[in-house]
Amino acid sequence: MMTEPEPSADTSTDRRILNAVHSVWGFDTLRPLQMEAIRAGLAQQDSLVVLPTGGGKSLCYQVPPLITDRMDVVVSPLISLMRDQVDALRQNGYPAAAIHSSLTTAERDRIRQGMRDNVFRLLFISPERLVSAGFMNYLQQQNIRSFAIDEAHCISQWGHDFRPEYRQLAQLRDRFPNASVHAYTATATERVRADIVERLSLRTPNVLVGTFDRPNLTYRIIPMIDVEAQTLEVIRRHANEAVIVYCLSRKDTEAMAEFLAANGVNAAAYHAGMESVRRCAVQDAFAGEQLDVVCATVAFGMGIDRSNVRCVIHASMPKSIEHYQQETGRAGRDGLEAECVLFYTAAGVLRWDRLIRKSAEQSDDPDATIRAATELLKHISAFCTMAKCRHRSLTEYFGQKYDKTDCGACDVCLNEVEIMEDSTTIAQKILSCVARLGQQFGVKYVVDILRGANTETVRQRGHDTLSTYGILNQWQDKVLNQLVYQLIDLGVLQRTSGDRPIVQLTEQSRSVLRGEQPVQLVKPAAVFKTTQSQTESWEGVDHALFDHLRELRKTYAAERSVPAYVIFSDATLRDLARRRPTTTQAMREVHGVGVKKLADFGEAFTIAIAEYCTAHEIDVDCDADAAGITITQVDIVRPKSGRSRPNPEKERAMDMLRDGAALAEVAEATGRAPSTIAGYLCELIADEPTIDIHNWVDVATYERIISAATKMNDQHLRPLFEALNEQVSYETIKLVLAHSEAQFSANSTADDQSTSVTN
Ligand code: ADP
Ligand code: ZN
Repeated sequence: MMTEPEPSADTSTDRRILNAVHSVWGFDTLRPLQMEAIRAGLAQQDSLVVLPTGGGKSLCYQVPPLITDRMDVVVSPLISLMRDQVDALRQNGYPAAAIHSSLTTAERDRIRQGMRDNVFRLLFISPERLVSAGFMNYLQQQNIRSFAIDEAHCISQWGHDFRPEYRQLAQLRDRFPNASVHAYTATATERVRADIVERLSLRTPNVLVGTFDRPNLTYRIIPMIDVEAQTLEVIRRHANEAVIVYCLSRKDTEAMAEFLAANGVNAAAYHAGMESVRRCAVQDAFAGEQLDVVCATVAFGMGIDRSNVRCVIHASMPKSIEHYQQETGRAGRDGLEAECVLFYTAAGVLRWDRLIRKSAEQSDDPDATIRAATELLKHISAFCTMAKCRHRSLTEYFGQKYDKTDCGACDVCLNEVEIMEDSTTIAQKILSCVARLGQQFGVKYVVDILRGANTETVRQRGHDTLSTYGILNQWQDKVLNQLVYQLIDLGVLQRTSGDRPIVQLTEQSRSVLRGEQPVQLVKPAAVFKTTQSQTESWEGVDHALFDHLRELRKTYAAERSVPAYVIFSDATLRDLARRRPTTTQAMREVHGVGVKKLADFGEAFTIAIAEYCTAHEIDVDCDADAAGITITQVDIVRPKSGRSRPNPEKERAMDMLRDGAALAEVAEATGRAPSTIAGYLCELIADEPTIDIHNWVDVATYERIISAATKMNDQHLRPLFEALNEQVSYETIKLVLAHSEAQFSANSTADDQSTSVTN
């Protein structure tokens, strides 16, 4: 908490500090806790300084060596961070240097000379280089008096960015018994804080913890339905303002930027995989206010000093509250109001879960790594799904008390989070469906039964006779999906891990089923019941379009010599003229459009609608909602390369593949060649890397292919086919390679994430 200056503070020292800050940096005042932190540095009293992102931590270790004419050492995890800081300091005439692997020989010599001449006040260095024997000896000769450990949470396994090399800093205390050690971090819970103190053996440290709450930020967590359209809607509230959209993967940043640009937003993508020239150009354009919106992986933010970012959007959930705090921290640094919107889907949590397990395989202690990361993930997921004040949740998470009862700046306090009235009944229906299915199926299948999907598999298994079959058929499957995942988050259901996760009941399920425990389900954004009365009403229906579609219906009916209503009912035509779908995907959501009708008429109707609406300047792809329209999809343009061209057979094939159907089965149902279907599956895998490949390839074959590809270091099909004794089909090889590729790029996303330690 903020503390008043201590009465015993030496005022002449304070004056020297203020003078230095004023003359070198041009700042007139110090920010909260900076004075205390600088005093600790001057007095060489160990300290742990926890200030939020943008709180001004660097100044705290920059001032003391300047005033005392000594050279302090700063440990920093990333070269880019060191370089940025050294550059910024040099601009102020502050002599500093950084030692890292990308120095030229000339630079290295110059730094050595400078150190001999004692010209530098700060020396930045990475932890692994610092602890190398040679360098330690050298620094001991230099009589270093003080070390600053930046991003000190990296030393803790409980932190969100554990770096094993930080552990070696434990030696500093023994090697430099007379030097003081000062730890700095933006994000540390009590546990991490204790860990830092212990690991660095800090001696009665002065622990200075700033206020974490950012009252000028308004937080919103919104269930994800159509993340691109939803993002566009938010950005339109911030026309001509600076916005950062955080995406999970590099591919996502590009797709999002393309979508936004197609809709007239001044947007660009940014990720670590881009050429550095292009990356710098984007960063400069954003800093220079020529670019409004950056769609980025978390790699973006280092060295970004645009203080008027008015909105930070998370198009996918970060893996910890620490990351969330850090990334949203980039909004409203100027103290003016800013908005932070996170689009949440429980599927995102599962994706992280997989990534965590996957990347833990490479760590020294996978179990401990998984445990720590999973705990962080649980916290952020609960933060997203609970209807509790966001400011309060964040503040309490960082171990502080929150005094206000109504923050007035979050979706919960602003009453934007709607609880479904009949939550408990809905939960009971879902739970009894899981029970009836013998707790043996995955989320998707449970949803199929709840909404009464009439598929071959369901009929074969006889599940269409269950009492819970179709029991929630008034909801879209997306909505049902979300509700099931909410129950999982609440612990009322559980999902097993492994390749074929199934949904099971828990202790809590039983008390909910017995009516002993009420459940609160947050209303998903696009919840709407397609009841008769609503689809038949004229609300939102474009009459002229309705007439136009009626003509089209007439043509088809005449062609097939059937009554018009056999093609589509009036209710369906009205719903079409209300939602105006231009993609088969959107059309599938329309009342009365099943897979067969979609295949037969989807293309013709979506094209007719698109043409008509363009000619008459009418909005398309509207998402109607019983409680008013939640996603106002005004003027949305989907980039050409995307899913804009209707291809109903492909959509159908994709749906069947998502269900795990065999290639031959899909080929037969859609009338496409098996090789075409295999191609679709490769596409699907690239888009949804978490898809279960073992539906098509057994574990042993998968391993055989991967080990052959690794051994040969070759991804060409022919040599692999031969290496596998021509026993494995080309299709299977292709699938496995596509899958491992997708896993790999999902993981390189994870390393983008881990580079984000900047504040
Ligand atoms: P942190 O490392 O805590 O995220 P920085 O040290 O990067 O924060 O500081 C954030 C910004 O605030 C920088 O632009 C810095 O120059 C500025 N700053 C730091 N201290 C002050 C101050 N006392 N007055 C004005 N600006 C400050
Ligand atoms: Zn609130």
